Amino acid sequence: MNEQHLKNWFLNRKKHTQESVVSELFDGIKRGSIVALSQGITLLENSTDLARVKANELLKLCLPLSGKSIRIGITGVPGVGKSSFIEEFGLHLHHLGKKVAVLAIDPSSEKTKGSILGDKTRMNILAVTENVFIRPSASGATLGGVARATRESIILCEAAGYDIILIETVGVGQSETAVHSMVDFFLLLMLAGAGDELQGIKRGIMEMADGLVITKADGENVTKAKIAQREYLNALHLYPVNRSEQITNVLTCSSVEKKNIDSVYTLIESYINATTINGFLAQRRKEQEHFWLHETLKNALLDNFYGNSNLMQDLSKLEKQVETGEITPFSAADILIQHYLNQKK
Ligand code: GDP
Repeated sequence: MNEQHLKNWFLNRKKHTQESVVSELFDGIKRGSIVALSQGITLLENSTDLARVKANELLKLCLPLSGKSIRIGITGVPGVGKSSFIEEFGLHLHHLGKKVAVLAIDPSSEKTKGSILGDKTRMNILAVTENVFIRPSASGATLGGVARATRESIILCEAAGYDIILIETVGVGQSETAVHSMVDFFLLLMLAGAGDELQGIKRGIMEMADGLVITKADGENVTKAKIAQREYLNALHLYPVNRSEQITNVLTCSSVEKKNIDSVYTLIESYINATTINGFLAQRRKEQEHFWLHETLKNALLDNFYGNSNLMQDLSKLEKQVETGEITPFSAADILIQHYLNQKK
């Protein structure tokens, strides 16, 4: 089935049975069809019960073909130069003969009208490069929903033969934690600021990073970038040694001058090699699988509980009783859990 045929098929897909949807999507993905991959990801983003069943079938088919890519998370505050960096970095990887997928986690995209990858002018050369797949973040979904869909999209991209998967997120809020829990290498992009270099950087994010890159190291900014690099290296020395046993390195680069982009990939490659040998990479992926199992369970239970209208009526009555001191919050919670469990019997 060629690309055009597949497009027509999707237009007429209502005529097909649900079973053929999954197996034809899988065939398309395996062949590297961008249309099938995009449609597969759209299926993952759909949270209706039927779509979830079909998405799980598709994932089950793709899973044996997954796991072979290098998954790289990229974060940094808006304006740090993420999309400019990903454009140059992606092109560098392309020249090395890699198939590159770019995904995004941007839970705020509805509010900001798609600050990540939404704007078509971003990454405009990469977007039309062969063997490169760029997928904007699903808009309007919760962080949990977007994160789950992105985690699952990695599996589809791997089944489609992508060697490197870049996952971009904005350096604000909880999204870094989600991205960190699905990648092999977490890259933090930073600006060389005037004055206190560490200002505004959340300690937790620095600790999560496997590598730091000071962006825009060009023109008058080169010296500032070098100073920032030294300061961050010094700051990182104060941190306990990472479980990966790798030192968190700090590089400078310029996307505009295409300088040092290759060094960033060399750093990541040597990290992947070292952590493959010492077993940390496999351990990290195992822990991530556990994390997603528990996350999914927690979300499903919360949805099931808070989506139950009877329980919500009970909850609002109990809330009033808690407010007036008739009952403690703890016994109110016990009563509700009991109602919930009784309904499940
Ligand atoms: P994002 O919001 O993190 O994705 O950042 P962008 O990639 O959109 O970049 C923000 C601004 O910084 C834009 O005006 C870019 O042209 C500029 N910029 C990005 N990379 C560089 C660089 O390497 N050098 C210089 N001088 N400017 C850059």
